[in-house]
Amino acid sequence: MPDTAIPVIPTIPVTPAVLESLRAIVGDKGLILDDQGKQPFVTDWRGSLVGTAAVVVRPANTEEVSKVVKLCYEQGIAIVPQGGNTGLMGGATPWPTHQGILLSLGRMNHVLEVDPVGYSMTVEAGCVLQTLQETAASHDRFFPLSLGAQGSCMIGGNLSTNAGGVQVLRYGNARNLVLGLEVVLPNGEIWNGLRSLKKDNTGYDLKHLFMGAEGTLGVITKAVLKLWPAPKDVCTAWLAIRDPQAAIEILSEAHAASEDNVGSCELMSRACTDMVLRHIPGTQDPLKADTPWYLLLEWSSSRPRADGAEGMSEKMEQFLADQMEAGRVLDAVIAQNEAQSRNMWVIREAVAPASRAEGPGLSYDISVAISKIPQFIDQGVKAALDILPSIRPYPLGHIGDGNIHFSFMGPKDMDRATLNQYTPAITRAVNDLVTSMAGSISAEHGIGIDKLDELAHYRSKIELDTMRSIKRALDPKNIMNPGKVLRL
Ligand SMILES: Cc1cc2nc3c(=O)[nH]c(=O)nc-3n(C[C@H](O)[C@H](O)[C@H](O)COP(=O)(O)OP(=O)(O)OC[C@H]3O[C@@H](n4cnc5c(N)ncnc54)[C@H](O)[C@@H]3O)c2cc1C
Repeated sequence: MPDTAIPVIPTIPVTPAVLESLRAIVGDKGLILDDQGKQPFVTDWRGSLVGTAAVVVRPANTEEVSKVVKLCYEQGIAIVPQGGNTGLMGGATPWPTHQGILLSLGRMNHVLEVDPVGYSMTVEAGCVLQTLQETAASHDRFFPLSLGAQGSCMIGGNLSTNAGGVQVLRYGNARNLVLGLEVVLPNGEIWNGLRSLKKDNTGYDLKHLFMGAEGTLGVITKAVLKLWPAPKDVCTAWLAIRDPQAAIEILSEAHAASEDNVGSCELMSRACTDMVLRHIPGTQDPLKADTPWYLLLEWSSSRPRADGAEGMSEKMEQFLADQMEAGRVLDAVIAQNEAQSRNMWVIREAVAPASRAEGPGLSYDISVAISKIPQFIDQGVKAALDILPSIRPYPLGHIGDGNIHFSFMGPKDMDRATLNQYTPAITRAVNDLVTSMAGSISAEHGIGIDKLDELAHYRSKIELDTMRSIKRALDPKNIMNPGKVLRL
């Protein structure tokens, strides 16, 4: 657990009688009681946070969720909702003082309806993201949410963290991909907001309260998701570029050159690329250029490429030639087939597992206005090196969204405990810089446990008070993921 002082959370234990009531609701296969079985649920993805839970409860449908939550509400028992447990801020990990339940949505994994004509699908919260992408594709449609953890994260978790990923530039973050929600409120009542409406100005738009709330206001049980036409003509390229300033200028020019078909634009450094090549078997360097900065650029169109007509790759070729002429692109390669494109994407998406394998590090998921990214990287790296000159900077990220994963690996041979001595000073320097540039200290990963005190430090009193009022109104007993996001 981080140095963060443990917040006060409800500590009503799960008695044998409550356990029997839970068993009556979800049955034996909906309960995990043994320590070995609970271990993966109470440990976070990085393996650095470990909490406890009296029992892991795995309901099969909304009615069971409702009954479980109602029982906990009546008894004052705390609940930690969990999807795929890939969150990086500890939001799905119980505190060590947690005495309540962990509510896993994994058994609620059914696609309930696909409406290709209306471009929507209705799904349960425990559906794995990649399954939803594949379901949409099987109907010649596209669900654009895409991130490195898509093989195990679940849509309920994606919506609860308002996840971002590599297509935000074009389609928006998770919040923008939703038409309706069903939510079990902290008292066990079911709010049915499963509407498929594009327009609905009937009072407060309640679904937006629950998206990005990290499970602190209720349990998302179902969602109506938006779909788009399936991409038919896709071109992926790996560019060696002059510097981050060139990256944002390339992106700015790419919109018109691609006829508004930019799907993704990801900044990578040589150091990040090498780290992935070192740790992830089967990856190959797309471009053996010895330059410090790279860009993964993807254009895609839903219009199939007609014979003889100019498609995405011809447009990209011309664009890259122009950008080389302008001195922004130093070298480039366009993927010639699916395998080459996949390799480029694996390199980008495997940075998190590669850094986990590399050793102890620090990562700041920040955003600033796109035009300020070069200045931020420059000043942020200098600030961290001033504090720990041997720290290794690995900045990368979704530059089209102004979102940098401002990451560092600890100096070679430095253990976690020693690195932790420098962490508070580096964190303060980075987050102060972000704030001075009117940026965000959490662009897409949320707050969870890790940024509890940072949120309190940087958000204004009026914002914190308003958030606390909403929390208290919906969850007066503070049983829903207590001690996450906000200290009450
Ligand atoms: C390799 C890797 C790459 C990643 N890349 C990205 C990226 O590009 N962009 C990005 O945004 N994130 C990224 N992440 C972070 C993570 O995958 C996302 O935050 C994801 O949305 C979490 O989904 P999950 O199902 O794993 O949620 P969990 O980790 O299980 O939970 C996350 C939070 O949501 C709450 N929650 C979960 N399900 C529900 C529910 N049904 N109702 C209410 N609350 C719920 C939990 O209590 C917790 O607070 C990455 C993670 C990894 C490991």
